[in-house]
Amino acid sequence: MPSVTVSVIIAAGGAGRRFVAAAGEPLARLGKVFAPLAGRPVLAHTLERFAAIESVAEIVVAAPAACLAEARQRFGETLHTAGAGPALRLQFVAGGDDRVESVARALAATDPKTDLVAIHDAVRPLIRPAVIREALRAAAEHGGAVVGRPVDHTVKRVADGQRVVETVPRDRLWLAQTPQVFRRDLLTRAYAARGRADPGITDDAQLVEALGLEVVMVQGDAANLKITTPEDLRLCEALLAAGWPFM
Ligand code: C5P
Repeated sequence: MPSVTVSVIIAAGGAGRRFVAAAGEPLARLGKVFAPLAGRPVLAHTLERFAAIESVAEIVVAAPAACLAEARQRFGETLHTAGAGPALRLQFVAGGDDRVESVARALAATDPKTDLVAIHDAVRPLIRPAVIREALRAAAEHGGAVVGRPVDHTVKRVADGQRVVETVPRDRLWLAQTPQVFRRDLLTRAYAARGRADPGITDDAQLVEALGLEVVMVQGDAANLKITTPEDLRLCEALLAAGWPFM
């Protein structure tokens, strides 16, 4: 891949209500982003995965305003990289009321000179660097790339909470994960138009798709779990203990 530079946005601004509601103390107080995974905060694992990528120039984390001071103190302003390159710049900014607003604030804090912007959920700490690299390559080629998985379950549409009304053909369905990577100019345009977008949007690619721009899917791993409940945290713990990534 020609030498592109990448800004990484880590979305960590959510309150994680489902996690807090299901977790006992002290996990509930820490929240899912700072909960311990193999002895270190979930966020530390996520940051490390991106710091391993040569083209990453900086990381901006959108965190809840109440956690900013502690996060800055705990993680500092730079991150060590795997290779001999200079340390990465690390910033924490206050998140917004929803994920789109958190990402918009982080985007405004990124270096406008980088070529690509990769957006990743803080609560997906098991992302494999090889998948990140493939998403970066695909975004440089097509403009936008989303890591995900083809749906391999049978999908039912229900009404009234449980009555099956339809079995949805799954052959063209994918589940979207993160990272989602975009050429900076396209993402900036998409976020500038976010006021006109559906208020229920759940990922960044939807804003880019709404402009009619090309977005491609990149195959990721089922193990790129999103920690939503304490059970997901235990699954991540088990995968790491079993040696993930396995190759
Ligand atoms: O709430 P949900 O699980 O969909 O959140 C996905 C990701 O978006 C999490 O990493 C969460 O911290 C982040 N988020 C955010 N700002 C919000 C809400 C969610 O950065 N206001």
